[in-house]
Amino acid sequence: MKHLLFGPSACERWLACPMSAARAVDGDEGDGEDAVSGAAAAEGTAAHLLCELTIDAGQVPPQRMVLNGLQVTDEMREGAQLWLDTVKSTVAELVGEGYTVTTRTEVFGVTAIDPEYGGTTDCLITATHPERNDVVCVLDYTFGRNIVDVRGNKQLMSYLLCHIDKPLDQLDMRGVIVQPRPWHPDGKVRRATFSADEMSVFTDMVRAAIYLFRSGDAEETVGTHCTYCPRMLHCSAICKFAEGIHEMGDSVVDSPEMAARILEMRGVLKRLIALTEEHVSCKLQSGEEVPGLKLVETYGRRTWSVGEEVLLSKIRNMRVGGKKQLYKQTLRSPAEVEKILGKDVVKKFTKVESSGTTVVPLSDRRPGCDPASIAREFGA
Ligand code: SF4
Repeated sequence: MKHLLFGPSACERWLACPMSAARAVDGDEGDGEDAVSGAAAAEGTAAHLLCELTIDAGQVPPQRMVLNGLQVTDEMREGAQLWLDTVKSTVAELVGEGYTVTTRTEVFGVTAIDPEYGGTTDCLITATHPERNDVVCVLDYTFGRNIVDVRGNKQLMSYLLCHIDKPLDQLDMRGVIVQPRPWHPDGKVRRATFSADEMSVFTDMVRAAIYLFRSGDAEETVGTHCTYCPRMLHCSAICKFAEGIHEMGDSVVDSPEMAARILEMRGVLKRLIALTEEHVSCKLQSGEEVPGLKLVETYGRRTWSVGEEVLLSKIRNMRVGGKKQLYKQTLRSPAEVEKILGKDVVKKFTKVESSGTTVVPLSDRRPGCDPASIAREFGA
């Protein structure tokens, strides 16, 4: 799959920090996309491959299969079914309104703004009508658990720009997010339309960011967008930011602003530490020295030295116990039982309880807690 410098899936990051697009220019390995963790990326790729096969076959493949080295799970199959249903219903709705519809999946497109601004859209639906504006609709499938909102979604707007060949005010531009896993008040399929004005403002933002990068005037700009930046270990600004925290005059206790900044940036800081550990570990393993650090064996964890059957028979022969002592039976979670017995049964015996409070940015969709009512509840 071809990845360009300004990929739509990473546009939140490079719009905030145009310099971050420089990674591919530097000749590093990688694809210019944001680096999500290995396991999550492999799972996402497998889920996307299943969606592609499902669209091609017109149904979720019935056979058990391994995709991208992973066993396809029931959750992936349910997601692929939702994807197929959404594509079909979107097309059916347009056809019902008298449009002539074309549907394409995995469509690569480049914008007219810059030859390096483009990417592959999961699904593109275009439609024409004798009396109405043409419709351009992009559908994006995401198997991740981090909630993706559809309104004002820059990634969808970027994909739309890849497939627009008319003035904005002559088009009806739509976007759809299909996200099967996390709960969202608007459902697993979320739809939005993007006005010509909104797209025009967004296009100006994109032009400004790309111009900065192309002119060589872009500077590294640290923020929450840094979390998955593939350039992180090459970025001096992020190290200066970490150093600034180290050198700050005020303690966290004396400065609520500093406490808020640290928590706002926790995702970035955690990733910086994880990547640095990985980098240093590689250096030490290859025999290089890193001041003040060394490699040691991790603490061992006891495991059985014989297989299950052998262990059971040995324990029985010793007359000290049997299955009861070796195995435990645990209750399945509501989500697991729901798959076996269905939603209606599980609904009767479940409740949703919060396990406490947590600190999040003001932009989080959940309403804030009232400290007085928390104090009353806990008798403080
Ligand atoms: S890590 Fe550096 S280059 Fe990457 S987005 Fe942050 S400031 Fe920009």
